[in-house]
Amino acid sequence: MQVFYATQFVLPLPPGHRFPMGKYQLLRDRLAAELPAIRLMQALPASDGELALVHKPSYVQGITDGTVDPAILREIGFPWSAAMAERARRSVGATISACRAAFSEGIAANIAGGTHHASADRGGGFCVFNDAAVAACLMQAEQARLGRRLRVAIVDLDVHQGNGTARIFRGDDSVFTLSIHGQKNFPFRKEPSDLDVDLPDGCTDDEYLHALEGALAELERRFDPGLVIYLAGADPHEGDRLGRLKLTWDGLEARDRRVFDWAWQRGLPLAFAMAGGYGRRMEDTVQAQVNTFGVAVSYWQRWQNRRR
Ligand SMILES: [Zn+2]
Repeated sequence: MQVFYATQFVLPLPPGHRFPMGKYQLLRDRLAAELPAIRLMQALPASDGELALVHKPSYVQGITDGTVDPAILREIGFPWSAAMAERARRSVGATISACRAAFSEGIAANIAGGTHHASADRGGGFCVFNDAAVAACLMQAEQARLGRRLRVAIVDLDVHQGNGTARIFRGDDSVFTLSIHGQKNFPFRKEPSDLDVDLPDGCTDDEYLHALEGALAELERRFDPGLVIYLAGADPHEGDRLGRLKLTWDGLEARDRRVFDWAWQRGLPLAFAMAGGYGRRMEDTVQAQVNTFGVAVSYWQRWQNRRR
C-alpha cells in the first residue's frame, strides 16, 4: 500500500509549542517496522498551479515568500519559515499522490495532511493549505481530461469541524463534504458542510458509531461518489487533550473499519490522511494512527486479491 510522507520537513517550532510535530516521524518509524505491506514514498510538493485550483494565488505567494498577513499566521498557529512553506506544499502533494494511487490500487494514504481548517485565502488551526480540497479538484481535472465527471466525497472524522473544506465547496455539487465533530469544539463558528453531525462532549463509542452509520446512509442517499477522501483524525480518542470525546481504541478502530468497509463494498477508491491528534501521550495518538493503517492494509489487501 502506497503511503506518502514529508516527514523530512520538520517545522521549526519554539520550545513548548503545543503542536506535536514529532508524531509524524514516530508514525513513519512504526509503519516501517510493523506493517511490511506499506511502501513509504516521498511526497513531491504541490505546484502553484495545483494549489491555485483551490487557493488564491496571492495567499499561495504570501505563504511561499513569508509576506502573508501576520494575522493569518497567528490563526494558523505556526511561525513562518521556508521549511513551513515547503512542508505545506509537500503535504498537499502527498494527498494528491495518495488519490492517484487509490485509483490504481484501491487505497493509499498521506502520513500527514487532513488540513481542513484552511480555506481559499487563509489558513487556521495548524492548517496552511487544504490538501483534501486541492487533491479533489485536481483529480476532477485529471478525470475530466479523460472525459469523465468525477464526484468526490470528503469524509471528515477529525473531531474538529472541517470549516475550511465546507467553505471551499459550498455550492459545488460535485464534492460532498461530511463532517462529524464535537459541537463545542474548535472552530467555534462552524461553516455549513453538505452534512454536519454535531456530537456532545463525552460522546462514547456507541453514540459515535450510530452517528457515523446514519451519516454514511444519508451521504449515500444524496450523493454518488467516484472517490472518497477520508480524514481519519485520531483526536476523537478519549486520551486526546483537545478532543472532548470519549472514544476508546476499539471505538476508533470500529470507526475506521466502517469507513473502509463502506468504500470497499461500493468499489470506491479511498485516499486517507491523518488529520489531527493531540494525545496527552503522543504515543497514544500514534497508536490510534497505526491502528488506522492496520485496518487500511487489510482492505488494501482485499483490493489486490480482487484485481488478480
Ligand atoms: Zn482535529
